[in-house]
Amino acid sequence: MSVLVAGVDVGGTNVAVAAVDGEDRVHHRRKRPTPASAQGVVDLITEMVRELPDVTAVGIGLPGLVRDNRVLAAPNLTGWDEHFDAVELLRGALGVPVFVGNDADVGLLGEWQAGAAVGQHDVLGVWLGTGVGGSLILGGRPYRGATGLGGEFGHLLVQPGGAMCGCGRRGCVEAYAGRRMMGLAAEAERAAGRDSVLFSIMAKKGKATPTSSVWGAAIEKGDKVATELMDAAVEKLGIAIGSVVNLLDPDLVLLGGGMAEEFGQELADRVARAAEPWTMHVREERTYEVAALADNAGVVGAATMARAGVLTG
Ligand SMILES: [Zn+2]
Repeated sequence: MSVLVAGVDVGGTNVAVAAVDGEDRVHHRRKRPTPASAQGVVDLITEMVRELPDVTAVGIGLPGLVRDNRVLAAPNLTGWDEHFDAVELLRGALGVPVFVGNDADVGLLGEWQAGAAVGQHDVLGVWLGTGVGGSLILGGRPYRGATGLGGEFGHLLVQPGGAMCGCGRRGCVEAYAGRRMMGLAAEAERAAGRDSVLFSIMAKKGKATPTSSVWGAAIEKGDKVATELMDAAVEKLGIAIGSVVNLLDPDLVLLGGGMAEEFGQELADRVARAAEPWTMHVREERTYEVAALADNAGVVGAATMARAGVLTG
């Protein structure tokens, strides 16, 4: 086995850790619930990485604004602020180089390295999980803008004055298509007297919040509230993606994250149809696909980032 690097995928719900070898194969993957504090996440990553065979570096994808290997904000995680230096703490605890990146950037990097985006020059990556992440590959290179904070697809405006978003603004695509905000919308419907099987399925599965598989089961049962909220999510994703397609003309729109994994290519096809009315030039060759590595995109991408980081210092 070649040199192993730890790939860490921190989500709003779970933390997944695996050892990734030089051929992008994933070993010893395991996941645990995400702790509700930044220090808790650092302690859990330390513990999980120590359970792996010897690794030479650690790469972490995390839902937040990340610049220069530092997390500036992570609104979908509890207890993070820019003064908390997770990288320094982990480097001290584990004694190997540690690199952190935005989870959608890391997920798309994984797909570009070993999944559905291999060899592609212009890609929009949309990550559908607790929030909505975005990432770009333009002209054959990952693109993050002047200061590394670009690609925030989830906070594109799709409805001025619309639903409240986790970022504090109204009408972002994440306010409609992020799983956390969809769950809050379902709770608001319940409070207004429209119940949904989402909550009974959630209780039966022993989940604290509606996960992607809970959404899948509720929609499979024909639940009205869940179906309407999913339809709204697809509609708003179409508006946002149509705008990005007009601006950047990508060859591939890649959907990843828990919701994409749950609903598969059918969701990618629905989103493609929803984007069409907002797209100026509909190109047959433009494809809409779901991540090929499924939930390994994050750990493979994180390990890829760490390998590149070790090489470039
Ligand atoms: Zn927002």
